[in-house]
Amino acid sequence: MKKHLLFLGAPGAGKGTQADLLCQTNSYLHLSTGELLRKEIEMNTTLGREVKDIINRGELVSDELVLKIVKQNLNKDNKGWILDGYPRNLSQANSLHNVLNEINQPLEVVFYLDIPEEVLIERLLLRGRKDDTEETIRTRVNIFKKTTEPLIQYYEDLSLLEYIDADRDLKTISSDIKQKMA
Ligand code: ADP
Repeated sequence: MKKHLLFLGAPGAGKGTQADLLCQTNSYLHLSTGELLRKEIEMNTTLGREVKDIINRGELVSDELVLKIVKQNLNKDNKGWILDGYPRNLSQANSLHNVLNEINQPLEVVFYLDIPEEVLIERLLLRGRKDDTEETIRTRVNIFKKTTEPLIQYYEDLSLLEYIDADRDLKTISSDIKQKMA
């Protein structure tokens, strides 16, 4: 069973939901950079205050900052992990590659959760998180297309990519992922 996983997909594709489901059954660590950043904002830490406006505009936080957060959390002992929301651009992908080499836990599979744009916009508007306004959604989807989407080819070239149709019900997607993890 694969235990070092990455979930790639547009905002609203369901990465967090699927990662949560898997981590419940497998006791893997769910490492969501978005979640970790939101926690910092909630706790009103120095870091949280630094990133709050950026996140509420739907823009990306600096590569250095997210790398620091990822490093801090990956160091913990764990049975396995699922990265969700990181990397989001090629520079982050290269940093991640180096970090994972250092700790001797290379990526085993990348699940690309694919979903039509109109479906994800609808989902995000329904979700109604603080950074889910129509304007920020547009910004985040555009950033995804421009800077994150190239990672699909990047991981395809490394023969790590598994394509998942994410426009289906939760359980169907989940069992599809589990099958491809075996
Ligand atoms: P979504 O996938 O729905 O956009 P996330 O919870 O993954 O939501 O991320 C929320 C916000 O946190 C992003 O819009 C961005 O501002 C910030 N963020 C999360 N991960 C990263 C990252 N790897 N690099 C830069 N910013 C990030």
